[in-house]
Amino acid sequence: MRQNSSENNHSDKLLRTFFDCAPMMMGFVDVSDDSIILGTVNQVAAEFLGHDQSFIKGKSSLELGMDQERIDGWIKFYREAEKSREHVFFDYWLEGPEGLKHFSAIVCFVEYAESGLPRFSFIIQDTTATKMTQQALEQQENFLETVLDNIPDMIFVKEAESLRFLKFNKAGEDLIGFNRDELIGKNDYDLFPKNQADHFTTYDREMFKNRKVVEIPEEPIETRYKGVRTLHTKKIPLYDAEGKPLYLVGISEDITEKLLTEEIKNKMYHEQVARLEVEKLLEARDEFISIASHELKSPLSSLKLQAQMLRRNIALGKEDAYSPEKINQMLELTEKQVQRLDRLVNDMLDVSRIRTGKLAIDRTKVNLFDLILDVMNRMKTQFLQLECGLPTFRYSSDKVIGMWDQMRIEQVLVNLLTNAIRYGKNRPVEIRLSQTKEHAQFSVHDQGIGIAEGQMEKIFERFVRAINPSEVSGLGLGLFISLQIVEAHGGKMWVESKVDVGSTFYVQLPLNPPIR
Ligand code: ADP
Repeated sequence: MRQNSSENNHSDKLLRTFFDCAPMMMGFVDVSDDSIILGTVNQVAAEFLGHDQSFIKGKSSLELGMDQERIDGWIKFYREAEKSREHVFFDYWLEGPEGLKHFSAIVCFVEYAESGLPRFSFIIQDTTATKMTQQALEQQENFLETVLDNIPDMIFVKEAESLRFLKFNKAGEDLIGFNRDELIGKNDYDLFPKNQADHFTTYDREMFKNRKVVEIPEEPIETRYKGVRTLHTKKIPLYDAEGKPLYLVGISEDITEKLLTEEIKNKMYHEQVARLEVEKLLEARDEFISIASHELKSPLSSLKLQAQMLRRNIALGKEDAYSPEKINQMLELTEKQVQRLDRLVNDMLDVSRIRTGKLAIDRTKVNLFDLILDVMNRMKTQFLQLECGLPTFRYSSDKVIGMWDQMRIEQVLVNLLTNAIRYGKNRPVEIRLSQTKEHAQFSVHDQGIGIAEGQMEKIFERFVRAINPSEVSGLGLGLFISLQIVEAHGGKMWVESKVDVGSTFYVQLPLNPPIR
């Protein structure tokens, strides 16, 4: 027995020491309807209350400086513990000697004291530091949430493994049409049609595999209330320190309206361009009509003048005015003017044929060498009137044979030579003929006024003239018609030129032209 009692004493002391050394407030209280009476409390509790343990014993909380309202609050928890016979936890802030502190308390019913009041044990821990950290974290979280919710683009975070949504901002909720409680914890298959979910998931997995930010310039998404929207999305993979995938951050901009405005803008731009082109064409047509009238008028005036003179001379009985010699001269002039009229009208007819796709190519076997000699011969008179005289002709073979439309190719050459006379400043003109395995090529070279860089392509267009209309006569149709003829043969035509140095026009024709 004695041994037992000393053992008991020892363990009592041990418990007492443990009780006093514990870093949290511990002790016993008896609780009445409106008061908490303190019993034995440990050292930490006594220190907090600012009195000796022996002074505290038997004092009420009110006597120790607590206010009644707070005491009533605590009593409720003690009552609960008494009723449930279970530990009851609660938190509170309390102003102590060291300022405002946060405490977490556990109270437990122990027994009924001799007074009949229920007795409880309490353990109270100072949790100010933890609470402050928690509050700081919450503040940070709130701050982040506020920032995210104020960004107008959808932002979401997915867990790397399951690809389930962890976060969704307000713009995301508005766009998809679900609130975040419905979205968090779900994956794409819970929210979108299968084909779309497949598409999103493939992109996500690939991004983690490639360890790179993925940018999807345009992706459609089926939303709950706004139909199909188009998003511009960037997906960013996040990894832990060991490089293991953690999260996917997605940023999506809804570009549906932007695309629409761009489409409208594009349409408006194209309409504007088309309008300008029509205006340009109308302007060119008006200019053409005025040039054409002028061109047609000058041979007609010349013919009219001739007829008037003849009539006057007959009236005056001037016999020498219609001597065979004079008549011959008159006929030559008439023929020339008629030819000019004929060419102008034919050019206009050709343009109309080209426009309606009726420019027919009649292929026969043609030797370009003979064709060139023939044209040179026909234009002899015109060249001989110039200081430079006849063009020189260089050729690699006198047999350059292919299936072409003889009259049309003659028309091209006549046009090039006429231009060489018109714009060649009376300087020597050269014609070249050559042949490769697949092509025949001829060119007309002059040393005349040349063509400015910016005009070289344009002169092949309808009604375009690179020079002032008043300088040299012409309708601006010859090169356009020539190019159409050459292209109808499956060939090419181009110019090399330098202002005040001269121009070379090239015509290349396939020896076996494709059937068109
Ligand atoms: P036209 O000579 O009747 O005006 P073309 O279609 O034959 O019409 O020529 C278009 C324009 O190209 C000419 O008005 C002229 O400005 C330019 N051009 C054509 N050939 C030459 C050339 N050999 N040298 C300089 N300019 C030329």
